[in-house]
Amino acid sequence: MKRIQGTRVTVLGAARSGCAAARLLHAHGAEVLLSEARPLTGVHLAALQASGIALEVGGHTARALETDVVVLSPGVPSNSAIPQAAAARGIPCYSELEVASWFCQGTMVAITGSNGKTTTTALIGHIFSQAGYETVVAGNIGTPLSIYADRTRPETIIVVEVSSFQLDHIKTLRPKVSVLLNITPDHLDRYDGDFESYAQSKLRIAMNQSGTNDIFVYNYDDTRLRAHALQLTTTSGVQAIPFSYHQTLSEGASLHGGTLVLCLGQHTECLLPAKELALPGPHNVQNSMAAAIVGRVMDIPAASLRESLRGFEGVAHRLELVREVGGVRYVNDSKATNVNAVWYALQTFAAPLVLLAGGRDKGNDYAVLKPHLPGRVRTLIAFGESRDTIMRELGPHAGQMMAVETLEEATRYARACARPGDVVLLSPACASFDLFENYEHRGDTFKALVNRF
Ligand code: ADP
Repeated sequence: MKRIQGTRVTVLGAARSGCAAARLLHAHGAEVLLSEARPLTGVHLAALQASGIALEVGGHTARALETDVVVLSPGVPSNSAIPQAAAARGIPCYSELEVASWFCQGTMVAITGSNGKTTTTALIGHIFSQAGYETVVAGNIGTPLSIYADRTRPETIIVVEVSSFQLDHIKTLRPKVSVLLNITPDHLDRYDGDFESYAQSKLRIAMNQSGTNDIFVYNYDDTRLRAHALQLTTTSGVQAIPFSYHQTLSEGASLHGGTLVLCLGQHTECLLPAKELALPGPHNVQNSMAAAIVGRVMDIPAASLRESLRGFEGVAHRLELVREVGGVRYVNDSKATNVNAVWYALQTFAAPLVLLAGGRDKGNDYAVLKPHLPGRVRTLIAFGESRDTIMRELGPHAGQMMAVETLEEATRYARACARPGDVVLLSPACASFDLFENYEHRGDTFKALVNRF
């Protein structure tokens, strides 16, 4: 977008990202209509009314389509009525992140993937801020980039977590460094069950990168990503740098006999033994490798990188140690809302597990977990809406199993049957909306229960 001043913009969705985009565009002279399907009340409504931005709430009207541009909040599906109608009329539809990027100065590092985005974004943010850079960490991880956009400066490092929904509606967004961690099935409900179109969304993170100064960091263990990296380097000259957990690479990041080694151009650097990384589990070795590449290509000294990788405290609700009681460790992995995240959680612990799983099933295929339960999961406690499915699918592969209705009961049983040395792991494989507002609410409930023991 070259000219904002006077452009008519409809922003769909008045949650955080939508409001932030509307305010940003309004501040830059656009004629903004903020249109929200639900009714709004209270302080939120009052604040919006006071902002001077035109507002319609409790439904989108025909006015929403009298516009030059539509901006979509991440919560508004692309296949809902207004975006579809806008597309049919040839009105361009952009995501909040695309809009925010028009106003940003500085160097952007953008991270996407099915799992590990938040962890890796936070880790990369930590690496830059520890090294003394002015760093903004934004996007899906918490604060919309639109809130920071006007405060960025040429020297700012902008680390942004990007979801596939945001990528569906970018046009010019061009990170200097893009990171694609993995592509496994998730959110297929938003892609009409089509894994291929979901995967294509993720690949868009690098679509505007070009030339050897732009860098694409990718997971070498995924054949699709390997092919895409090759295509990118040949068509747009981007520098593609791989990381691999399973293979030793002569270029990129990988393990050399248990040590994380970076090979970049002519330089080979032994960073640190993987067991010294702050974050546990093979998936976090991968996240750390990706973060290390980003840090190093942006000239962070190896010593500073090492310190950050060793000292990072992690993010709540991702394999978060709640406490140890009676020799039993209680771990909150409430953010494990899909099967792949649970797969990694199971690989992370050598100790026998009491696994708490269940919630709202998003069409999970539990088959990949089955071989990993025997000998690992001493007791499986299924809870919530999907408990019968989980019992049927996974129960026969665990030592013992039981199904209960609530997380409270599940935690109580877990405490009763765990033995010293065990890990009680909440790693639900499901969404939380059957019993909770969101995964944070589920994780906080578990932590509160455990802290009351
Ligand atoms: P996202 O933001 O992509 O949802 P998170 O960092 O919030 O990712 O982690 C979500 C879940 O996935 C957690 O259970 C976490 O332990 C697990 N996880 C983190 N990194 C990875 C990875 N690289 N591969 C698979 N699972 C991962």
